[in-house]
Amino acid sequence: MAKVKYHYDPETLSYRKIERKKGKTVTYGFIFLLASSLFGFLFVFIASQYIQSPRERALKRELSNMELQYQLLNKRVDNAFAALESVEERDNSIYRLYFEANPIPQEQRRAGFGGVNRYKKYEGYDNSELIIESNKRLDKLQKAVVVQSRSLDEIAVLAEDKEKFLSSIPAIQPVRNKDLKRMASGYGYRTDPFTKVRKFHFGMDFTSPRGTPVYATGDGVVIRADNNATGYGNHIRIDHGYGYMSLYAHLYKYEVRSNQKVKRGDLIGYVGSTGRSEAPHLHYEIFKDEERINPINFYYGNLTAEEYARLLQKASLENQSLD
Ligand SMILES: [Zn+2]
Repeated sequence: MAKVKYHYDPETLSYRKIERKKGKTVTYGFIFLLASSLFGFLFVFIASQYIQSPRERALKRELSNMELQYQLLNKRVDNAFAALESVEERDNSIYRLYFEANPIPQEQRRAGFGGVNRYKKYEGYDNSELIIESNKRLDKLQKAVVVQSRSLDEIAVLAEDKEKFLSSIPAIQPVRNKDLKRMASGYGYRTDPFTKVRKFHFGMDFTSPRGTPVYATGDGVVIRADNNATGYGNHIRIDHGYGYMSLYAHLYKYEVRSNQKVKRGDLIGYVGSTGRSEAPHLHYEIFKDEERINPINFYYGNLTAEEYARLLQKASLENQSLD
């Protein structure tokens, strides 16, 4: 109930009841309500700047968790880079070096992406920088892996070529010569068995009984198997590619024909004494770019270092060749 208020009237020297109009009371009430609700809103607004709602707290937690995850992800990218770097290091200093390919420079391995800004869609957020940097590093990593992968593809091709090359060039003795007793004469100046004049002997002679098997010394194609060359008698020529050719002379019999493909170690014929020959033996020559070279350097395929030294010593004796 509203309090009854009095007013002292000095003229009548008495208290008189204060009468209030009903409309005014309603207006005051309304103003009071408006003011208090305004104040309420203001209070809530200010308070909200300092006090978080449960939803805001949850979002904030999620955000900091995401930042943490990004940092962990960046650590893992670091680890991946470190692992890749050791592969790249080996690639440049071992594989590419071995196969005589130029090393790939670091600038090329770590090249970013030029031109358009690929990261525009990540711009304009509080954590844009974190997201853009992480994406940039992942892109760099991906690109570096692609560069490395291409390098290995290149190495694989080179290795295949090298393998082909290694199996092609002459690398074994053309006759079985386990105890190295079959060496009669090496490459260099020797006495001619017929004229007894000192002249250059362009091959190596392996003394062997007639019918001893003769083997291809490297992979290749038989380009000749005939007796149409002066002095050589029945002879075989094998083209090994890469500028190499081997020649087997004074044969008794052929086991291959012209244009036939052969592998190292294949039986191609038998020792004889056809052509300009003093006794049954195999005369063996190697050509590089159509020049005859010393076959002694082409037996590493089936000789130990010690055997090679013995063979070298025997081959360098200046004796009479069998031609
Ligand atoms: Zn000879």
